[in-house]
Amino acid sequence: MSDLPEKISSHKYHDGIFGALHEQDEEVYQLITREYERLCSSIQLIAAENQCSRAVLAALGSIVQNKTTEGFPGARYHGGCEIVDDVERLAVSRAKEAFGAQYANVQPHSGTCANHIVLTALLESGDKVLSLGLDQGGHLSHGAKVSFSGKFFNVQNYYVDEETFLLDYSAVRDKAIAFRPKLIICGASAYSRVIDFQKFRQIADEARAYLLADISHIAGLVIAGAHPSPIDHAHFTTTSTYKPGGPRGGLILMGRDRDTRIAVSGNKIALSQLIQKTTFPGMQGTPYLNNVAAKAVFFRETLSDKYKTRQFKIIENAKRLANAMLTLGYDVVTGGTDNHMALINVANLQDGMTGITAQKCLEDCGIIVNKNRLPYDKKGAALASGIRLGTPIVTRNQMGTEQMDTVAALIDTVLRNAKVTANTEYEIDASIRDGIRDKVRQLCEKFPSH
Ligand SMILES: *Cc1c(COP(=O)(O)O)cnc(C)c1O
Repeated sequence: MSDLPEKISSHKYHDGIFGALHEQDEEVYQLITREYERLCSSIQLIAAENQCSRAVLAALGSIVQNKTTEGFPGARYHGGCEIVDDVERLAVSRAKEAFGAQYANVQPHSGTCANHIVLTALLESGDKVLSLGLDQGGHLSHGAKVSFSGKFFNVQNYYVDEETFLLDYSAVRDKAIAFRPKLIICGASAYSRVIDFQKFRQIADEARAYLLADISHIAGLVIAGAHPSPIDHAHFTTTSTYKPGGPRGGLILMGRDRDTRIAVSGNKIALSQLIQKTTFPGMQGTPYLNNVAAKAVFFRETLSDKYKTRQFKIIENAKRLANAMLTLGYDVVTGGTDNHMALINVANLQDGMTGITAQKCLEDCGIIVNKNRLPYDKKGAALASGIRLGTPIVTRNQMGTEQMDTVAALIDTVLRNAKVTANTEYEIDASIRDGIRDKVRQLCEKFPSH
């Protein structure tokens, strides 16, 4: 049914593993196949997205998913856990090795859950949290009003500098001293520069706050040493595991503060112990042990030179893409990037252009990006003034700096030729669109999804 080239090996894999699904449920099988074909025929530039290995997929789709239990290895609530205990212990020890951490909790179902666990562990209702504003590159789970994390706590935000759009550490410090939060959260979803975790810890110590570093977006770079590590600076480090290229899920890590004690209802317990208890029974029920197995497979992959080298290439590609956009005359937020993403202002391209319109017309041409608000954006989240470009997947598919120039030129051709008609609607000449689609397809065939 598919006319994809034979050399796309995961196609064979999908055929194999999905044999049973194909026989039993043609409808879902077709949808999954179509999703795979979509990936193979468009360029994936979503900075929050990655593609895991076939080994990770195999662990995810394994019978380990059937094991039900609660608790942690050696202290489960059901029988028959001897083997899954080993699976989880292996995942924990590999996570610690990958991040140079002293404590790892591999049970959080997502990055959001990992953050909610830390918040719930430390804070009582009404306690104060200081975090980066959502519209400035922060994350929903850092205390946004619409999120659980913003519902029960007293949250204030710090902001990036109005001119440079860079984190202003002295402003963060002033705010922390004045507000006296119990928890400071650093880490971002849309910030393209290095985050100084050491400085954040100094500020937290001065304000007598705990520090949570959420490295969801940059976890792979941190593992490889391509971005400074927060592990021994922050009290807690959280991440999603799919963004660095593993299975979906979350992770909580600790470094030197693992045994730091905290008073909880009259008793002093170690912070790591508090995280364990808050994970289960506090916030979650049964662990997804297939997911834990897949995390173990992924953490081992991250120890390889191949993985580490790729993280540096991801940055090299992002820098090249950002530079190419600058050269083409685009306003790149902060003038470039230190990590895997670049934020591009599209609102100044023509009257009425928004992030969502740019996203839609790029998608129409086979280039997948996401709209993103820029710092101090006057447009709301539904429209946004910018797009966010990320290089983890194109780098994984072996594209290099030369291809980044090509991708920038394709994006430019689309955005220059799209005419905003009304609201989020646009028109693009069909021949231009088809020309871009052809070029995208050629690029995808040369650098196939693995
Ligand atoms: C993506 C992201 C998360 C959420 O992770 P999910 O697993 O999708 O819930 C949390 N924090 C930051 C900074 C993120 O970028």
